[in-house]
Amino acid sequence: MAGRTFFGTVRLAILLALLLFVAAGAWLDSRRSTDWDGPLRVTIYPLAVGADAATARYVAGLDKDSFGDVTAFLAGEAARYGVALDEPVRLRVSRAVRELPPAAPEASGALGVALWSLRMRYWAWRVAADDPLPPPDVQVFALYHPADGAHPAPDSTGLRKGLIAVTHLYASADAAGSNDVVLVHELLHTLGAADKYDPATGRPVEPGGLGEPAREPRYPQDVGEIMAGRIAVSAHEAVIPDSLEETTIGPATAREIGWSK
Ligand SMILES: [Zn+2]
Repeated sequence: MAGRTFFGTVRLAILLALLLFVAAGAWLDSRRSTDWDGPLRVTIYPLAVGADAATARYVAGLDKDSFGDVTAFLAGEAARYGVALDEPVRLRVSRAVRELPPAAPEASGALGVALWSLRMRYWAWRVAADDPLPPPDVQVFALYHPADGAHPAPDSTGLRKGLIAVTHLYASADAAGSNDVVLVHELLHTLGAADKYDPATGRPVEPGGLGEPAREPRYPQDVGEIMAGRIAVSAHEAVIPDSLEETTIGPATAREIGWSK
C-alpha cells in the first residue's frame, strides 16, 4: 500500500467517518426506540406485488383500522409488563411506496447482507423524505402477494439497524390474522427481539419459545410466543397461529424490547 495517494487517504477517511456516522445514528435510534417514554411511531407502507387486480384492490382498501388488532395486541401486552402508556405503538398507513424495495441477496454471505442492509436503509430514508407525513421511528414495508396459493411469499425480515421491516403478506381478509402475526414478529425484531425457534426444525425452543411454558401437561399449547412464530401443539408438531389472539409476548422478548428488566 506504499502507493496510497493523498486523495485515496482522504476518500478512505471520509468513508470511515460516514460509516461511523451511520453506526452512531443506528445506535441512537435503537436506544430511542426502546425507551418507551412515549408512543413508538410506526408507519406501514402497503404495496401490491405483481399486477393481480384483486391484490391491488385489497391493498387499496387498507387503512389504519385494518391494523387495529396489532395496536390493541401491543397495548394489552405492554400493559401486562407495566409499560405506562395507553398507546405504546402508534400506527399510520402511508401510500408513499410505489416500487419494490431492493431485493434481498440470493446467497446470504455476510458482505452481501451488509451491502443490502445499507441499500435498504438508503431506500427507506428516501421513502420517508418523499412522504408528506413526518418520518416515523420504525418503517414497516408490507408487500402483499396474491392469496391464490400459487405464489408462496418470501421470508420477511426485520432490521434492528435502521429500524426497518420488510414483510411479505397475503392479500385476503382470511389471511389478515396471520399477516398481523408476521407484522408484529418483524416489528419486534427491529426493536431487538431475537427469534425463539430452532432454525433447523422450525420448532419453538423450550421453554422460552413456548406461549405457556408452565403448562402441565406441557402439550398441547394453546398460544405461541410471538418470536417463536409457531404454537407447539405436541412434542413434534408446531402450527402457525391464525391471529394475534393465539400469541403472547414472553418474558425474554419483553426484556429484549425494553419492557422489563
Ligand atoms: Zn424472526
